[in-house]
This record gives sequence, structure tokens and C-alpha cells, in this order.
Amino acid sequence: MNIAEIDTSSFKDFDHHEKVLECTDEQSGLQAYIAVHNRNLGPALGGARMWPYGSRSEAITDSLRLSRGMTYKSAMAGLPLGGGKAVIVGDPRTTKTPALMRAMGRFIQHLDGAYITAEDSGTNVADLQIVATETRHVAGINQKKLNDGSQISGDPSPSTAYGVFVGIKASLAHRFGSGDLHGVSVAIQGVGNVGKRLAEFLVNAGARVVVADLYPRAIEELQDKLQVTVCKLDDIHRQGVEVFAPCALGGFLTVTTLSEITAPIIAGAANNQLAEVGIGRSLVDAGKLYAPDYVINSGGIIDIYCERAGYRHDELVTHIDRIGQTLEEIYALAEASRQPTHVIADRIAESRFLSPVGRINVA
Ligand code: NAD
Repeated sequence: MNIAEIDTSSFKDFDHHEKVLECTDEQSGLQAYIAVHNRNLGPALGGARMWPYGSRSEAITDSLRLSRGMTYKSAMAGLPLGGGKAVIVGDPRTTKTPALMRAMGRFIQHLDGAYITAEDSGTNVADLQIVATETRHVAGINQKKLNDGSQISGDPSPSTAYGVFVGIKASLAHRFGSGDLHGVSVAIQGVGNVGKRLAEFLVNAGARVVVADLYPRAIEELQDKLQVTVCKLDDIHRQGVEVFAPCALGGFLTVTTLSEITAPIIAGAANNQLAEVGIGRSLVDAGKLYAPDYVINSGGIIDIYCERAGYRHDELVTHIDRIGQTLEEIYALAEASRQPTHVIADRIAESRFLSPVGRINVA
């Protein structure tokens, strides 16, 4: 196994990252990168993503972008954690093997706790349990006990969904003066691990829910359980609803999609929702209330942190409920300063994690 630190300072997405390591392992076929962005608040925690990247530089770019996002997310969630991310090059459906996951475990162990891994796209609890045979720096794999005594797996998605639900209520309260969901309509784009659970929270709270998903089986499974309306993929953001909740892939908010979204509130789980930074300003100009993605989707990282800190379900819920107050604070500051909400969120996060010698990166 070859592990080497690489110089990423020429990459557009380089942002004073502490270090980026590359690992290649002929025996298992592993090609992976770990980016540690910032550890001023604690060890760098972030998921391990597996994706068939088209090139080495594409994989490194993703690790730089995602690790930076984790620093901001944890700082905003008030956690003593820094930001890191691992990416594995390969198709999770065809090239994932136990040997590859064990090699990944040895790579993570090499950082000796500077980076702690968890689930992300292309990896699941079972994969991470294999990683954990080689390193103890793995989170999101232990069974957790709920208040009613039932057990849930280490999967953080239910907590992410709950956090988005809390964030939607806070956004409604800010815009309409009440967070009551009775009679409110929400359009959810993508009903995977997070979106399907969000739909359940919303329907149970009295909301009308419209959904769309690329994967017909995801829709069928949801319809067996809940009363939801289904619409075409291309129409989900055009629904006449109060809230549009992107819960599929990032980058959906562009100049074009924004001109088609009628919902006054955009609040969903997807990471990196703004296709480009300038869209934040367009959202303000269009009169949309946008819940910054890494704030509203932080329930999962809070869950992972609580699991490591000795799990108490009531403490977890109390911590996730704070997402609502954080959003309210961001909305108030954004309105007072006429700044986009994501700019305000970045400023608050940076004030928490930047050391005195750190770079201030605000608009
Ligand atoms: P997932 O893969 O389980 O679900 C995503 C769903 O979106 C899938 O069912 C997929 O078929 C669907 N989809 C993809 N493209 C679509 C499109 N164009 N239109 C409609 N549906 C589409 O993923 P997830 O774990 O539910 O995560 C959803 C989003 O939330 C991702 O952006 C993820 O990065 C983010 N997120 C997830 C967590 C978590 O705890 N799982 C935490 C923070 C952020």
C-alpha cells in the first residue's frame, strides 16, 4: 500500500486544507483520497464517498470541496469537530469488495485519528463495519437505543430527516408566522434515505406532500406507507407549494430552475444546493427564503457525534431541535443586512472555527 501526501494548492477548490493524502493499493485495487480541511475545533469527521470519478483530479476536487463543507457544517452545529472527507474511486455497485474496505480501513488508520470516517454516498453501515476491523476511527456504525427502547442502526439518515423537518417548521414560522404544517404543501425532490423519512414526518404533522424520484421503486415503497401525491421529475420544483425540499443531488438551484420554482421557501437535505455562489443573491432578489444546506441537513453529523459521545436519544433530539433556532438567527441577520442566508451562515461558521491566524473568507 502506498500512502503519500499530495500538494493540492493549485486546485481551484483548495482552501488552506491541512493535508490531502492519496492511497493506492494494488492488491485490493484501492485508489482513495482523504482530505483534512481544518481541525481547529476537533478531529476531522466526514463520510467516505465511493463514486466512479472520471479522473484523479475530479476525485481530489470532490474531497477538497466536501471536507471544507464538513468544517462549516460541524462548526454551525456547535460540535467540537473539524472537517474531513474520504473519497474512493470506483463504482460501489461493481467494484466494492471486503478487501477494498479493509484497505480503506488501513488508510484511515494511517492518519491516527486526525480523520474519522462515516457513511456517505456509495458506502453503508455494513461497509463501515468492515473498515472498522482495521481502525477504530469510524462513526455511524453502532446500534442506538431510542427512548421507547427500540434499536436503530448507525445510519444517520433518520436524524438528518428530522433536522430538515425542524428546519422546515422554523422556515414556515419565519415566513408565515406559524410553523404549523396543517394545510401546508411541501414538494420533495428525491425520496431516498432522507426524503422518504422527511415525507413521513410531514404527513404525520398534517402537511400535503408531493414527491418525485428517479427510481420508481422508491415511489412505490413510499406510496405503500403514506398518502403522497406523485409528480413527474421535471415538474417537482414547479409545484404550487409553500416549501420546495431538494433531497436528491446537489447543484439543483440554477438561474433556470430558480425562475421556475414558485415555492417561497427552499429547505431540503441535499448538499451543495447552489449550483454557483451567485445563486444565493438571486434567491434574495427572487424573494425566496433559502435554508442553507449545511445548516438544515446537520442532523446526521449531530447524530454521529452523539453516538461517539455516549448516545442519549433525548440529548440528540434537543441538539437537533437547535437547528430551528440557528436558522431563525440566520434569517434575521440576513434580512437585516440584505445578505444571502448562505453568506450569513458562512460568517457565523468561520467566526467559530478560524484560528487567529486563519483566513477570513467572507463576502
Ligand atoms: P439517497 O441516495 O438515499 O436518496 C436520493 C434519492 O434521490 C434517490 O432515491 C434517487 O433516486 C433520487 N434522485 C436522484 N436524482 C434525482 C432527480 N433528479 N429527481 C428526483 N429524484 C432523484 O440519498 P440520501 O441519503 O437520502 O441523501 C439525499 C441528499 O441529502 C444527498 O444530497 C445527500 O448528500 C444529502 N445528505 C444526506 C445525509 C444523510 O444522513 N443521508 C446527511 C446530509 C446530507
